[in-house]
Amino acid sequence: MTSRKFNTVILLGFLWLAACTAKPLTVSPISPPVASPSVVPILATRSPTPLPPSPSPPTPFTSSPSPVFTPSPTPTPSAGGRTAGDPYAPELGNTGYDVQRYTLQLDLDPSRTIIQGTATIEATSILHNLVQISLDFSGFIIDSLTVDGQPASFSRTDEKLIIDLPQPLLAGDPFTIQVVYRGVPIMEASPFVPFINHLGLQFPTTSNLYAVSQPDGAHHWFPANDHPTDKALFRFEITVPAQFTAVANGTLIETLPSGETTTYIWEHAYPMATYLATVAVGEYEMIEDRSPAGVPIRHYVFPDVRQPFLEAADVTGEALDWMSDLFGPYPFESFGFVTTRIIRASLETQSMVILSENMLNEETVVHEIAHQWFGNWVSMESWADMWSNEGFAVYISLMWQTRENPDSLNVFMQNLRAEVGREASLDPLGDLAPHRLFGFDSYQRGALMIHNLRLLVGDQAFFRGLRLYFERFGGGTASREDFKQVMEEASGMELDDFFTEWLE
Ligand SMILES: [Zn+2]
Repeated sequence: MTSRKFNTVILLGFLWLAACTAKPLTVSPISPPVASPSVVPILATRSPTPLPPSPSPPTPFTSSPSPVFTPSPTPTPSAGGRTAGDPYAPELGNTGYDVQRYTLQLDLDPSRTIIQGTATIEATSILHNLVQISLDFSGFIIDSLTVDGQPASFSRTDEKLIIDLPQPLLAGDPFTIQVVYRGVPIMEASPFVPFINHLGLQFPTTSNLYAVSQPDGAHHWFPANDHPTDKALFRFEITVPAQFTAVANGTLIETLPSGETTTYIWEHAYPMATYLATVAVGEYEMIEDRSPAGVPIRHYVFPDVRQPFLEAADVTGEALDWMSDLFGPYPFESFGFVTTRIIRASLETQSMVILSENMLNEETVVHEIAHQWFGNWVSMESWADMWSNEGFAVYISLMWQTRENPDSLNVFMQNLRAEVGREASLDPLGDLAPHRLFGFDSYQRGALMIHNLRLLVGDQAFFRGLRLYFERFGGGTASREDFKQVMEEASGMELDDFFTEWLE
């Protein structure tokens, strides 16, 4: 792909493309446009933001074994902190509960931007005497809301749906929230990707729709604890006009035709961050395959791009097995790409990757496969660690390109070093301005940092450390401290100085 001939609008799309996939070293970097001031402040405050009053911590253990005849003190009612504490999106998340599973029943039609949905959220209380919770949810009319089948009172702000629980819950108590909602999704730009109109559901044509939500767009299409620290299982029941196929993460369990519509039921039985959930609706053809080692592959492709898709995705099975050998077994039940129209953006949506019809190339394919380990199987504890997510995807894509001649990787990296010297921002890599999170620094500077770490600790410790990282944190999240500790353990070296120098 060449960038220079595109007009401004396409350039903006291409930047987002660059944000989600690797950029070839031969392409001159383009600085991400600075978001207009009216957009930036909405979500992007990196300084601590005043948050809703955080309830005093409960004292479940100090009040336990009370003498039989002495009534134990009533624990303080608790609502959980209305934030996951992420410096980049302090308004998102809630720490009072842990979502186990989302079931999203959605009526979708690419020719209409209206969603009709029911979200069923099975969760477990983390706190004692939990009396109120919040979900992240923007827009839509709520027709009904129940907790364990009973109507519950709720209130709303721009970003939060605040729910009073009919009965206080103890830590470990399960509960189920069901939200019936409808309407047109809010379509406003995220400060992190100001060069695209909005995150969440995209309606590029009257015959295609799909969801891309990284980093903060999932709650623009379903109510969620919208931060990677609360991963959950997902089930999708997507009803679409009969000419379309509905695709989502995981495995297609059932197809239920009913007159003019068909309902597709998908399940993904692996923990997944909310931003990695997706649905795509289009007139798709399914292409089935298997990696040489046996990973099931199922792609959903527009028939008119079948040939270029097959050429680009030909390496899928080989790349899955190559990465399995390097980092540990492919973590999910199957893998596939689903093609999308127009917008130049691809996203590593877990086990079913959104692949733009304008990005059918091997580099994008390998980059998004790498994310299945880096970002998906182990997710960032904070958006501040985008360097690890994208830096690894870029680096692994370069390792793949040079796998026949590993020495040539050093030549690539020398060029990259020069490019980073010229183009990188002055922001610390671990504390980038929000609009740079999906830009040159996270991707190219991140890859350079990872290469330097490998040179410092040596190949054996580097790959041993990565395998240990996935064994220890697979299915969950990890912080930069976790990553550093694993690398220290694998190498026997003290790496404080290295991480401080690169990130701070
Ligand atoms: Zn990426």
